[in-house]
Amino acid sequence: MASMTVRARDVAQEFGVRFGRVARVSRAPGRVNLIGEHTDYNDGFVMPAALDFATLVAAAPRDDRTIRVYSLFMDQTREFDLDAPAPSGRHVWSDYVFGVAAMLEADGRRLAGADLVVASDVPLGAGLSSSAALEVGVAHALLAASGLPFEPVAAAKVAQRAENEFVGMRCGVMDQYIAACGVAGAALLIDCRSLESRPVPIAPNLRLVIANSNVRHQHAGGEYNDRRNACEEGVRLLAPFLGPIAALRDVTPADLERWRGALPGLVARRCRHIVTENARVLEAERALKAGDFAACGAAMNASQASMRDDFQITCPEIDFLADFAQGIEGVYGSRMTGGGFGGCTVSLVEADAVDDVRKALVGAYRTAFGLGAEVFVCTPSDGAGFVDLGQEDAA
Ligand code: ADP
Ligand code: MG
Repeated sequence: MASMTVRARDVAQEFGVRFGRVARVSRAPGRVNLIGEHTDYNDGFVMPAALDFATLVAAAPRDDRTIRVYSLFMDQTREFDLDAPAPSGRHVWSDYVFGVAAMLEADGRRLAGADLVVASDVPLGAGLSSSAALEVGVAHALLAASGLPFEPVAAAKVAQRAENEFVGMRCGVMDQYIAACGVAGAALLIDCRSLESRPVPIAPNLRLVIANSNVRHQHAGGEYNDRRNACEEGVRLLAPFLGPIAALRDVTPADLERWRGALPGLVARRCRHIVTENARVLEAERALKAGDFAACGAAMNASQASMRDDFQITCPEIDFLADFAQGIEGVYGSRMTGGGFGGCTVSLVEADAVDDVRKALVGAYRTAFGLGAEVFVCTPSDGAGFVDLGQEDAA
């Protein structure tokens, strides 16, 4: 998966060739979510880490109000007039870029026009959130080009709004938050209601191992919105019994067991995933901080089962990768990561078992599905910022 590494020096050089000026380069990472799936839009808890895969955005201001963007991956240039913004996207890649520009302005930031070159080594559409990396990288770059400060949490909210209102994907705030606020060497426990977070260090003997199934089932977007609707219906139907609840965050597993008869069966199962998942995220945080890696792994395995059986967002390829990893020596836990219906699994692994895990997973997946899985080891990185080209050359 780490087939190409994007260097800021090369993106800056591309910018110079295309636009004939000097650019600064912003960076925003993709992410892997250790635990807490679909809990973000239920005001709940999540625990992602920022990846060393990232999107780079080279930018320089213009003296008009045009945003012009070139994507190396797409090999296309698109333009957008800040004074005549489209109300919503057109289902093309540049929606993520122009949506962020439009929402920054809607949020009261007066932007300068800018030229941008974007490049990424986050695999697109693999569930590692190349979309949030692009949004947050663009937000950082546009604010900098306009001489405005980058406030990470505020930028995450604007980027989420761009994806909700401009792109038309009703995602929660997790991906944008971790892309903006990630902490090197740690996962982040994010409270998606208060928007506060705390780092959860990943012990030096642990590795986060990501396996890309290389499948993505097409209906993913519609299924995502269906799950959101089921959660909202659960809140509406439980409110008469539980009083003023705003989200499934306000429902405990015991509440749900008591009142689940008030819900249609499928809605009850969707809700059970969310309320038990919130509890598992907090348990995983406790376990990681206590050095109880087996307990953290058990929470991840329970999360996988809940996503498979109650929320029903996995698929055979993902279930296979997670189940198989769970049986390998040195693996504490394994589960799907990301919105669902394909994408990647994440496993919590002892450092010295990583090579065996990689070989075993790739071999078994090839035998079972005739497909290649890419496996890589993630080093949790920082959230959005400038790339120091001098430092990159030294590395
Ligand atoms: P994920 O966020 O899991 O990678 P999404 O479907 O949410 O998957 O976002 C992927 C989309 O984001 C791509 O189809 C493309 O439209 C856009 N995108 C991401 N990175 C880039 C890039 N470097 N250049 C152009 N478009 C990009
Ligand atoms: Mg995405």
